[in-house]
Amino acid sequence: MRSYDVIVVGSGAMGSATANNLARRGSKTLVLERFGLNHSNGSSHGLTRVIRLAYSEHPFYVPLLRRAYDLWFQLQKDSGTEVIRMTGGLECGTPQSELVTGAIESARKYGVRYKILSPREVDDRFQIFDLREDEVGFYDYDAGVVFPEKAIEAFYELAKERVDFHFNEALLDWDLVDGRITVRTSKDSYVAEKIIFCCGAWLPQLVPELALPLKAERNIQFWMRPREPGELFSIKRMPIYGFQEIDGRVFYGAPDSGEGVKVAKHHSGVFVDPDGVDRNATKDEENEVREFLRRRMPLLDGEPASFSTCLYTNAPDLHFVIDYHPKSRNVILVSPCSGHGFKFSPMIGEIASEMALDGKTKPDISFFNLARLSTTPPKSLQL
Ligand SMILES: Cc1cc2nc3c(=O)[nH]c(=O)nc-3n(C[C@H](O)[C@H](O)[C@H](O)COP(=O)(O)OP(=O)(O)OC[C@H]3O[C@@H](n4cnc5c(N)ncnc54)[C@H](O)[C@@H]3O)c2cc1C
Repeated sequence: MRSYDVIVVGSGAMGSATANNLARRGSKTLVLERFGLNHSNGSSHGLTRVIRLAYSEHPFYVPLLRRAYDLWFQLQKDSGTEVIRMTGGLECGTPQSELVTGAIESARKYGVRYKILSPREVDDRFQIFDLREDEVGFYDYDAGVVFPEKAIEAFYELAKERVDFHFNEALLDWDLVDGRITVRTSKDSYVAEKIIFCCGAWLPQLVPELALPLKAERNIQFWMRPREPGELFSIKRMPIYGFQEIDGRVFYGAPDSGEGVKVAKHHSGVFVDPDGVDRNATKDEENEVREFLRRRMPLLDGEPASFSTCLYTNAPDLHFVIDYHPKSRNVILVSPCSGHGFKFSPMIGEIASEMALDGKTKPDISFFNLARLSTTPPKSLQL
């Protein structure tokens, strides 16, 4: 049986970033991925991902994001591929909305550069967004997009000389015997000192003994072709954006980098088995996005250029879960990122490799602990 220092399960955002870090640190690593590189069955596809620093979800994330930004630019340099582009970001809602108050709280706590814009200032500056008189725009100077497929490819290309990537090979089961890990896959068996589960929505089925209260949620991203004038929506001019409506629903998206303007509703409330996902968009889903566009970006209310179905893996409080398995520090759980993890992936890859190789992490990640899952009340989704 072939033996490794570390086995990483999954090669989406978190697994490929982890493999890249383990390669740099000289660890003998095997990555098992049940599909191919950059497949579209999981959570990491869709051409763009939003990255923002004034983090409305919780200030705890801001120092981690600062490290993630550094690592994105490092990846860009090392790979010679554009993986990140700064566009600025606009979060809109009433001054009392979670989106705006959360962004302000994070920005003030950590000195993030921002500006509050009135509806007229938003209009003067961008000419494409409609805000109501009682709303404001929170402008995050340090926001932008990352390009997920290019990023995953870059992680892979930089790691592949030193890491064994086994695509189309699924982990079937694993065991812990005298502190060592044995795994059985669809093709072979291996042993390792450590195992890191970066398997997104499939995590609960691979550690059934933990009965993790995680839910896979199907979410759809649409790309719309702008009516004239198209250059206002181009990645050179348009910021990433988010709107929180008065009923709490959040819509967000990214500028046109060739494929159309991305628009999506954050959280559908449709929970699925990751092995049986209906990939079609329903008329209701499309109509909800269209109504949003009519209200907020009427120039975009044309025919959708395309759409794609993707999975969030939600913890009850919608934060991340990154921790050791309660039975062994040789088993590490990394992934469930509640629909907002991509921007962190190089930083999560770094801490996952620290957990495996050093037994501790440089940054504080206690916020993401497993134990809280049994006591934290679920956050209600605004659907
Ligand atoms: C529509 C949508 C929009 C999003 N927008 C943003 C955004 O703007 N900004 C942001 O920061 N985040 C965003 N996210 C969240 C972000 O993309 C995810 O948090 C991130 O991609 C999760 O990566 P992952 O590696 O954990 O999961 P995945 O990419 O799903 O990777 C898990 C991998 O494990 C593999 N696997 C599973 N089981 C096995 C097995 N038994 N054996 C071998 N391999 C296995 C799977 O095939 C898969 O490749 C969005 C997510 C979605 C769905």
